[in-house]
Amino acid sequence: MSPDQPTVLVVEDEPAQREVLAYNLEAEGFAVSRAETGDEALLLVREDTPDIIVLDWMLPGVSGIEVCRQVKSRAETRGIPVIMLSARSEEVDRVRGLETGADDYVIKPYSVIELMARVRSQLRRTRPGAVGERLEYEDIILDAETHRVTRDGRALKLGPTEFRLLSTFMEKPGRVWSREQLLDRVWGRDIYVDTRTVDVHIGRLRKALCQYDGSDPVRTVRGAGYALG
Ligand code: CA
Repeated sequence: MSPDQPTVLVVEDEPAQREVLAYNLEAEGFAVSRAETGDEALLLVREDTPDIIVLDWMLPGVSGIEVCRQVKSRAETRGIPVIMLSARSEEVDRVRGLETGADDYVIKPYSVIELMARVRSQLRRTRPGAVGERLEYEDIILDAETHRVTRDGRALKLGPTEFRLLSTFMEKPGRVWSREQLLDRVWGRDIYVDTRTVDVHIGRLRKALCQYDGSDPVRTVRGAGYALG
């Protein structure tokens, strides 16, 4: 998988439904992990934080509602969008689903196309660069679809690693990223890369961003990492 590919956790106890969902999400370019039970889902969320969770309501053991409640009650996982799937259509269930903090709610049987659209819509908010959105920060524009970056209207030459670094920064301007977090996001956690490599590529990114003068928008935060702005 490419490291900036958005990751989706599918939590569904029916094997056929789980596989159809996973298959379609993979076809859309997502990296998919699967859980059959609520316990397994909670474990996976802790071990390898996904970008979004598609969560069945009715699960054996820990229910989807409880999984959602726990995900939304922890600061580290609260920001992960949760789309709840349910076979029940009663209004009362809908309300309860939303009260647990679910970001969206889809009633079974659902159209896969509709569900994919909802997944993308949630990710447009939380991982805009990863779903091909155009990102803007001051005079910098990054088009994830065409892989073009401009500053003050002029095209910038950027290597693929610098592009992913910039996309990560531009999704959350002001957020301070540690070197380890940048390694996970930009290089992928399966590859061993020395944290000093991050510094090297930050240097290249800075050079690229300032190739037609303009101030350096990347901020070094002593003892913490880097941020855009
Ligand atoms: Ca179920």
